[in-house]
Amino acid sequence: MTAVPPLGAGALKLTEGGFPATPGVPALDGHGFIPIDVHCRVPGIERVFAAGDAVRWPDPRSGERIRVEHWVVAERQGQTAAKNMLGLRERFDAVPFFWSQHYDVPINYVGYAESWESLQIDGDISRRDCSVRYKKGEQTMALVTISRDVESLKAEFEMEHAAAKPHSG
Ligand SMILES: Cc1cc2nc3c(=O)[nH]c(=O)nc-3n(C[C@H](O)[C@H](O)[C@H](O)COP(=O)(O)OP(=O)(O)OC[C@H]3O[C@@H](n4cnc5c(N)ncnc54)[C@H](O)[C@@H]3O)c2cc1C
Repeated sequence: MTAVPPLGAGALKLTEGGFPATPGVPALDGHGFIPIDVHCRVPGIERVFAAGDAVRWPDPRSGERIRVEHWVVAERQGQTAAKNMLGLRERFDAVPFFWSQHYDVPINYVGYAESWESLQIDGDISRRDCSVRYKKGEQTMALVTISRDVESLKAEFEMEHAAAKPHSG
């Protein structure tokens, strides 16, 4: 049986440049976060895994490293890391999402778009019945919907099954 000592880092004080270097925490990338590979391993350090707010991971859809502060992302990443500690070699490729309720306006966001080339708006924003696609070329990187839950779920399904882009690790 392998001992697996967990180390929490998500509650480190986050500054504009990310987390400050901390004793016991793996080397940070240029953004102040812990880089991990698709298996939630910290590259270059044998048998060290990381997950949650403190990490940036290779997003299979954009091919870029991303970081998302979200409970479900941290939870799913932790599950993948745990399985891989046991030797399963599962890839972390969950689609990030969040929803928020602003009085009577429910907003769903699925995917991840730090930048985009075009916005495709369908419906009527003022009537609170719309979807907004953040696109790069033909690819939808993220979708925001108001009162269109089914469209949001379909987009999440499509993103989950979209061909993965090559990335560095
Ligand atoms: C105010 C606020 C509101 C939020 N609201 C939402 C929301 O509505 N929905 C949502 O999805 N997400 C929300 N989030 C984000 C969500 O809480 C985080 O994404 C999630 O908790 C990240 O989990 P984590 O395990 O990476 O880090 P954390 O939950 O921060 O866990 C890190 C753990 O490590 C421990 N720790 C720290 N340093 C050490 C150390 N040196 N040794 C041992 N243990 C240590 C800490 O005590 C802590 O228990 C919110 C965050 C904040 C701050």
